[in-house]
Amino acid sequence: MIPASDDPRGFGIYVHWPFCRAKCPYCDFNSHVREAIDQGRWRAALLRELSHYAEATPDRIVTSLFFGGGTPSLMDPETVGAVIAAVKAAWPVAPDLEVTLEANPTSIEAEKFRAFRAAGVNRVSIGVQALDDDILKFLGRQHSAREAIRALEIGRATFDRMSFDLIYARPGQTLPAWQAELDAALDLAKGHLSLYQLTIEPGTVFEQRVARGDFQPMGEDAQAALFDWTAARLEEAGLAGYEISNHARPGEESRHNLTYWRYGDYIGVGPGAHGRLTLGDRKIATRQHRAPEAWLDLVERDGHATRQRLEVEPAARLSEMVMMGLRLAEGIPAARFRAETGRVMEEALDPARLARLVEGGFLGVESGRLKATAEGRARLDAVLGALLA
Ligand code: SF4
Repeated sequence: MIPASDDPRGFGIYVHWPFCRAKCPYCDFNSHVREAIDQGRWRAALLRELSHYAEATPDRIVTSLFFGGGTPSLMDPETVGAVIAAVKAAWPVAPDLEVTLEANPTSIEAEKFRAFRAAGVNRVSIGVQALDDDILKFLGRQHSAREAIRALEIGRATFDRMSFDLIYARPGQTLPAWQAELDAALDLAKGHLSLYQLTIEPGTVFEQRVARGDFQPMGEDAQAALFDWTAARLEEAGLAGYEISNHARPGEESRHNLTYWRYGDYIGVGPGAHGRLTLGDRKIATRQHRAPEAWLDLVERDGHATRQRLEVEPAARLSEMVMMGLRLAEGIPAARFRAETGRVMEEALDPARLARLVEGGFLGVESGRLKATAEGRARLDAVLGALLA
């Protein structure tokens, strides 16, 4: 079991940097390409929005800070350092505060790793995506396999904790090819790997290319076979799957992402960032303005660019918690479910639906926890549809 910080005052902070060198054709994140970025202006705006949220969240303790994007490794290390310093000045922080920065493995960015560490980053998550130049080209990435390997070597030597991402279940990928690539990745890994299946998202260039017939996404059965083999291989290598796409040695799990999956509290600053905050009995969902320049103008004018601040209704709160929690191998403890929803799990969830999914081998209730089985996690969308519909 992954240790949890049980202090209810604990929460995470997400900082969104919305810029990338180029837009990858599969990406539907809030990421944009700009010729020039005024780092000083962006730094001042991030600090202002942080200070707005600090006023709204006294008495909280920061357990994790996550720089995501976009490509946060394009930030000046001074900007990263200023954000970390502002967080530490505004809130008490946990003694083992996790500070993660997502990075792309171009040589220019890898050369900044030491400066990021000096600024206070203690964990890096590198978007490697593939270890083959032709595939990197297909994915529209800006780095070569050689650069990625070099960045991983620098990352390993610079940070105690490191993760990297790979995208698999790509068109035409065979099991032997994936086996060889994953074994090479395991040789380069430290304690954490994120392995995502390629999905064709609406509004992306890949969606247009699939519609034109340029390529066919991998079929579901082939994807499932790769997923099952991957889970077994990572388990054997000592990096158990603690979440559908995330694998770690014990203690190396991403504490920040665990906060999301355990339905804990976090604030989000920067364009399009989301947050969830418990205020008394209420859960508040926040979302910042999505467009980078509009976000910047609003923060400079009002001190924040909160576009939405809504109470999460009880039914939505229950669904969100179940959708997040069943992604985790540890599942959802009954006590946490009750504390969040005020209801007993077996009564709040439709007993007939629950029983059918347990009988079908997709869900289980074990030591007071509701869990998706490996079979259930492999097809979680369908399981959630059958449980919560
Ligand atoms: S680098 Fe990451 S965030 Fe930026 S476009 Fe590519 S996948 Fe999206």
